[in-house]
Amino acid sequence: MQELHDAPLAPLTTFRLGGPATRLVTATTDDEVIAAVREADATGTPLLIIGGGSNLVIGDKGFDGTALRIATRGLEFSGPSRTTLELAAGEVWTDAVARTVAAGLAGIECLAGIPGSAGATPIQNVGAYGQEVSSTITEVIAYDRRSGETVTVPNADCAFSYRHSRFKQDPERYVVLRVRFQLEDAGGLSAPLKYAETARALGVEAGDRVPAAAAREAVLKLRAGKGMVLDPEDHDTWSAGSFFTNPILTAAEYAAFLARAQDRLGPQTAPPAFPAGEGLVKTSAAWLIDKAGFTKGYGTGPARISTKHTLALTNRGAATTEDLLALAREVVAGVHAAFGVTLVNEPVTVGVSL
Ligand SMILES: Cc1cc2nc3c(=O)[nH]c(=O)nc-3n(C[C@H](O)[C@H](O)[C@H](O)COP(=O)(O)OP(=O)(O)OC[C@H]3O[C@@H](n4cnc5c(N)ncnc54)[C@H](O)[C@@H]3O)c2cc1C
Repeated sequence: MQELHDAPLAPLTTFRLGGPATRLVTATTDDEVIAAVREADATGTPLLIIGGGSNLVIGDKGFDGTALRIATRGLEFSGPSRTTLELAAGEVWTDAVARTVAAGLAGIECLAGIPGSAGATPIQNVGAYGQEVSSTITEVIAYDRRSGETVTVPNADCAFSYRHSRFKQDPERYVVLRVRFQLEDAGGLSAPLKYAETARALGVEAGDRVPAAAAREAVLKLRAGKGMVLDPEDHDTWSAGSFFTNPILTAAEYAAFLARAQDRLGPQTAPPAFPAGEGLVKTSAAWLIDKAGFTKGYGTGPARISTKHTLALTNRGAATTEDLLALAREVVAGVHAAFGVTLVNEPVTVGVSL
C-alpha cells in the first residue's frame, strides 16, 4: 500500500482541479482497500474514495483526511458460456469494455469510452448511447462501512435509476470492491441498438444488431467528436463529461416549462421530451443550456463550456475549482431565469458545492 502526505489530487482528476489531500493511500488489493477504510473509520478520519477521478470536483483547499485511490486489478469471465464477467473496482472501465467486445460478448459495448474505473460504474449507474450498467450488473460486492462486513448487493437492491443508485444515495456507507455482469453471447453481435444516433451512424435501424466491435467503434467515434473521450492534448476533455443531469419534470412542471419556452422562443418551440415513467418527463440539459444562450465555447475565462458539447464544462488549463464553479453557477442561474428549470450537477463535489 503506497502512502503519500500532502499529496496533490488535481492530477488524479480529469478536470485537473483541486487542492491536496492530507494523506493519499493507493490500494492494489481488496484487503488493502478494506484495511485503509477500517483504519480511517476507526480513527474518525474523513475518507474520500477515488477511482479514475472523472466525476469529481475537488475544492481548491483540497481534502483534509485520507484519500483512498482504488487501483485493484482483476477481470474474469466465467459461467458455462463464459458470459459472466467479474471486474475488480480498479479496472479501467473502457479497457474492460474492449475486452468484452474482443471476447464476442454483448451488453456494454455502447459504454465504450466512458472514463474511470469499473467500481464507480454502479455509483451513478453510468449510461450512454442507449445502455446503462443497471441492465447488465447482477451483483455488486462492497465493503459495508456500517456493518464492517463485505456484502453482496444483488441488482434488485441497488436502487438503480437515471444516474443514481443506493451507493450514490448513501456515499458514506459502501466501498465497491467488485462488480459482476451478465453479458450475452450473440455470436459476436451487439445488443439491439437502442439509440437512434448510433443506429444512424451504422446505417441500420434502431433495434437492429450489428457486430459488437462495429457498435463500439461507432460509439467511440461519436464520443470523440463531442470531446467525450479523454485526450490530454484536448482541453475539451478536461471535464467530467456531462456537468448536469437531464432534468426529470412532473407533467405540471413540464407544462410550465413548455409555456415559458414557447413564450421565449416562439409558439412552434418543442423542447426535447422523453417519457421517464410514472407520468414524468425527461428533458435535455444541453438544450436548456444552449437555448439560454450558453453556446459551445461560452466563456472568456480559464473555465469554459466545451467547444464540442454544451453540457461539458471544461478547464482550459489554468482554471481553479472556483473558476469552474463560478461558470457552473452562471449556467444554473441563466437556465433558471430563462426557463424556470433548476439544473443539478452530475459530478460529485468534495469540500465545495454549487
Ligand atoms: C470525458 C468524460 C466523458 C464522460 N462520459 C460519461 C458518460 O457517457 N456516461 C456517464 O454515466 N458518465 C460519464 N462520465 C462521468 C464518469 O466517467 C463516470 O461517472 C465514471 O463512472 C466515474 O468513474 P471514476 O472511477 O472516475 O470515479 P471518480 O470520479 O473517481 O469518483 C466518482 C464518485 O464515485 C465514488 N467512487 C469511485 N469509486 C468508488 C468505489 N470503488 N466505491 C465507492 N465509491 C466509489 C467517488 O468517491 C466519487 O464520489 C464522463 C466523464 C468524462 C471526463
